[in-house]
Amino acid sequence: MIRETRNSINDIWGERTPYMAGAVWPARVDERTTEDPERWVRGTCVLCSNGCALDIGVKAGKIVGVRGLATDVTNHGRLGPKGLHGWEANNSPDRLTRPLIRRDGRLQEATWDEAMELIVQKSKEIIARQTSLGIGFYTSGQLFLEEYYTLGVLGKAGLGTPHMDGNTRLCTATAAAALKVSFGSDGQPGSVRDLDLTDTVLHVGHNVASQQTVLWSRILDRLAAPNPPKLIVIDPRRTFTAEHATVHLTPRVGTNVAVMNGLLHLIIQAGRTDPAFLEAHTVGYENLKKVVEKYTPEYVESLSGVPADDLRAAGEILANTRTLVSTVLQGVYQSMQATAAAVQVNNLHLIRGLIGQPGSGILQMNGQPSAQNTRESGADGDLPGFRNWDNPEHIRELAELWNVPVDQIPHWSPPTHAMQIWRYCEQGSIRMLWIHATNPAVSMPELHRVRGILQKEELFVVVQDAFLTETARLADVVLPAAIWGEKTGTLTNISRTVHISCKAVEPPGEARSDLDIFLDYARRMDFRDQDGQPLIKWNDAEGAFEAWKACSRGRPCDYTGLSYQKLLAGSGVSWPVNAEHPDGTERLYADGVFPTHADYTESYGHDLDTGAGVSAEQYRAADPGGRAIIKAAEHQEPHEVPDDDYPLWLTTGRQVYHFHTRTKTGWSRALNDAAPDAFVQLSPEDAEHHGLQNGDWVLVESRRGVVIERAMIGNIEPGLVFIPFHYGSWDDPSRPRAANELTLTEWDPVSKQPHFKYAAVRISRYDAGEVAAQAGGAVGRALAVVERLTGGRGTPELTTSPPPQPKTTSRVDG
Ligand code: SF4
Repeated sequence: MIRETRNSINDIWGERTPYMAGAVWPARVDERTTEDPERWVRGTCVLCSNGCALDIGVKAGKIVGVRGLATDVTNHGRLGPKGLHGWEANNSPDRLTRPLIRRDGRLQEATWDEAMELIVQKSKEIIARQTSLGIGFYTSGQLFLEEYYTLGVLGKAGLGTPHMDGNTRLCTATAAAALKVSFGSDGQPGSVRDLDLTDTVLHVGHNVASQQTVLWSRILDRLAAPNPPKLIVIDPRRTFTAEHATVHLTPRVGTNVAVMNGLLHLIIQAGRTDPAFLEAHTVGYENLKKVVEKYTPEYVESLSGVPADDLRAAGEILANTRTLVSTVLQGVYQSMQATAAAVQVNNLHLIRGLIGQPGSGILQMNGQPSAQNTRESGADGDLPGFRNWDNPEHIRELAELWNVPVDQIPHWSPPTHAMQIWRYCEQGSIRMLWIHATNPAVSMPELHRVRGILQKEELFVVVQDAFLTETARLADVVLPAAIWGEKTGTLTNISRTVHISCKAVEPPGEARSDLDIFLDYARRMDFRDQDGQPLIKWNDAEGAFEAWKACSRGRPCDYTGLSYQKLLAGSGVSWPVNAEHPDGTERLYADGVFPTHADYTESYGHDLDTGAGVSAEQYRAADPGGRAIIKAAEHQEPHEVPDDDYPLWLTTGRQVYHFHTRTKTGWSRALNDAAPDAFVQLSPEDAEHHGLQNGDWVLVESRRGVVIERAMIGNIEPGLVFIPFHYGSWDDPSRPRAANELTLTEWDPVSKQPHFKYAAVRISRYDAGEVAAQAGGAVGRALAVVERLTGGRGTPELTTSPPPQPKTTSRVDG
């Protein structure tokens, strides 16, 4: 019998439990079960970066529901629609249960021995021919810390390849980059608890209401009580979040730096900086002051379209607030000048001295549940423990820890970032690409290129996932993976809070945890340390966690004071957790000391305009020695702008009911029914200009590809269109609809994060007969894509009946 404390599809954030600044956020336990559980097992939601703690209900060996954990620091019992419904993916009959190997052009069932031996044989062949530089890994932000650390060790110390990165490059690379630029190391300075205290919240490119619904509930509850915080939202769309703003700034695409510079200008002009803090704890302020001098409200309006008076209103709040929490996400990270813009948010806090104090913090957000772990454990373009690839002493520490020669660990250049890994695959220097828990055939930019790379004859592609995704369908070997609820591990949320998530049920069929797959590969490859002992000395998740603790010792993300026992005993705990901070650390930098010392910093930094790295010598010559670094940036025009041929801006993003490419949420009937299809959102003005009504089929073309979507009119500025990026072809191969058919292969010079938030496009009413009559150009490409996706059935005669609507009670953002 279904038990549900509320219908979270209709009532996304639940009833208000107002609380005033300084009070404790009242608990409210959200629960949804389809049968009465026999037992409850501790877990953590993995469907966004909030990391809400929960219990997993189990009956007869199956997951039958979840309930929030009332005592947890992050969610105080609450769960959002994804958390309450997403677990249904575990029980899907479509889960992968056996390995698959491509034989005679078709994926066919195989044994684990056959699949793993084939991977090992390919690995050895490639190493013999061209060293381990021929092997690359493209991992995820959705595994557990223990799995990433094991992967990091086998890649860096076992194979010795620098080619390992995560899809975190697409989602949070800019968060890491901006934190390194300003503070010397990755790691969120603030805490979600600062929201309980703050006077002002600033959301920059972050639609928190849709992306982290429980975090938004916390803010809504502050807004519903007396003396609510002021809310400033910077977003070109009128989102759920923006509906509640005290001031909503709607900049044109690609102008975040201009707007942030305008706000910095206003604070400085108002004389509201903190000179004592700047003097004692920062370097670089004078240059910032000089750079932002010309960013008057009128100048910013000319660049961004934000009315000067709106900017002044936001500037006045920011200049006078006593406390401030800022959050930043994809509207900044996936846009032009990503790192430069994110750094200006850090600068705002630094010039006002609003950091490290109760109620004041920066949350350079993550998108995925364990993106923080990918970055801290070295499974992406970073070294474990936020070590600096360019610091020989940091490499020596790792070599000693792993007992391997220093030169076994690749450190002659920065670890290869994902966009470059894909380029090497395209060029042919990487011959084996191993993909885990991510779906680049939908999530990467410029999809026709990505499909082409995955289909290259000479590239051996391994995909490890729970479902036969669009990417898995193109693989040479598919490994069935256990997912959340079927394995134990830890993950760290946007507040540096570490949670444990335990195995509640067995995985389906022969599916194995990612950890077991990595351990099996390491054993079969016979990776050894320099004493001839197995390189990887652990056999289970807790063993991996203990090994990771040793690696994190003395680093900013110090886990040495944590244990599984401690994590199971109560709430999540925020790192660093060590002898000095046995109960964890709520916010960083309370003492005004930042990890920028040359011997300690994670990075020597970059030029924000060009991405050129700062050398060790240059950095040491002006060692900030524990002070934060204020770096300024000028606004630059985006590289592709609308013109006569492609007159509209495209921006892409997410919806409240789905996570990533729906590889989990797409298997929940309720979530899928609430948001069943992609659409193109456009303004009434643009709709009228093109003669479009709500629900009409629209052909959207960029220089790289086309999609066909239903029109959704309203809640967006003229000149801008929006398409959610979740939708690929696995459940609808009838038409090209993935937003990334249209996006650009370009990336931020510092974080290397691709630009999903802008591209020039044109739109027209889609008429199958008209399109079929044309050939060549973008429409020709549309036909080619449609032919392939529909198995040669020709131009889709799309239905003229009303579009598949979200349930009337569900809400579509925008
Ligand atoms: S807010 Fe995020 S972590 Fe929390 S229940 Fe929703 S999807 Fe899960």
